[in-house]
Amino acid sequence: MRDEIKKAVMENKDSLMSLVRRMYEHPEIGNEEFESMAMLAEKLKESGFEVETGYVVPTGFIGRYSSPKKGPTIAFLCEYDALPEVGHGCGHNLIAGIGVGAGIGLKSVVDKLGGQILVIGTPAEENFGGKVSMAEAGVFDAVDAAMMIHPSTENGLGGRTNALNPLKFEFFGKNAHGCRPQEGKSALDAAVLTYININLLRQFVQPDTYIHGIIRNGGEAANVIPAYASMEYYFRGTTMAYVQELSEKAKKCAEAAALATGCELKISVYECPYDDVKINYTLCGLLKEKYEALGLQEIQDVRETPRGSSDIGAVSYRCPSLHGYIQIAEKGVAGHSKEMAAATISSMGEAGLIAGAIALAEAGADLIENPALLQKVKQEFTTSQH
Ligand SMILES: [Zn+2]
Ligand SMILES: [Zn+2]
Repeated sequence: MRDEIKKAVMENKDSLMSLVRRMYEHPEIGNEEFESMAMLAEKLKESGFEVETGYVVPTGFIGRYSSPKKGPTIAFLCEYDALPEVGHGCGHNLIAGIGVGAGIGLKSVVDKLGGQILVIGTPAEENFGGKVSMAEAGVFDAVDAAMMIHPSTENGLGGRTNALNPLKFEFFGKNAHGCRPQEGKSALDAAVLTYININLLRQFVQPDTYIHGIIRNGGEAANVIPAYASMEYYFRGTTMAYVQELSEKAKKCAEAAALATGCELKISVYECPYDDVKINYTLCGLLKEKYEALGLQEIQDVRETPRGSSDIGAVSYRCPSLHGYIQIAEKGVAGHSKEMAAATISSMGEAGLIAGAIALAEAGADLIENPALLQKVKQEFTTSQH
């Protein structure tokens, strides 16, 4: 352990926790996190970073610090969007504290080691995928490693996620009186047929595939043949390539339904598609080493079974990335709950913030100091498929 890193994080512990607490008390949902962005930017400025707010997306930011010596670029990612009803029930306020703390920790040694530190504020993870917009804008293309830690009920090195494609099907038929149905075309019938057709697909999908959908609009009154119906679906699978293949089959299901009912069909991508996560096992190994040195217990290996979807996927195909987990609540506490939100400001939350920030800063310092290690990380990134 480098004493300077530990000292820098500990000196900032109270101010970082006060940021975490302020976000807990004033949770802001995705793309509305203006106050959170402003307070994180302020803290980074005070700590000697050059900061740009409204970066790529309105509530995105980037803090940069370059040492006089050339070297690799290490990025720490912050999330700070909350959820409706449960506030910071996913603990993104703590992700932000850890990211800023890691930046401050690494800055304490980077002048000696060389290189550049980026602390990137990536908003709206839960709904709009700030990282996807940033990845598309090329933000991660020149980054050597992008790292973050998410609060959890266990310590872990990360895990696979599902690629996700959100599709909307809209059917346009013709209104008619319920007693003169022959004069109309039912958009609801088209939606019902699509629902059935897609359900029949399920037998023929790869393992770890999830299809969930709803009928959003199915008519206005029982005695009116519905002229409009719409459905929203999530298609998830182990890779984006497969999810696209599956989406094509689902589109055929909707086309068949439109044909059968004489309705017009419009298909659109109604939310942000998420890539699956490309795991970098070398970075995971480095995090494990850091967690062990900090005395963290029961560190879970990389979870190979995909669970959920996250916008970190977009980053992971642009540069080597790490999305670790740190325990801040007892097992059994549910994600996306008020209990999880409360854990972010508990003593366990504070311990997680300190350990997370030190672990990431240390990992960054190792990557700068040890070119062979960074080479291995990059080699794995280029050669692994997903
Ligand atoms: Zn969440
Ligand atoms: Zn989350």
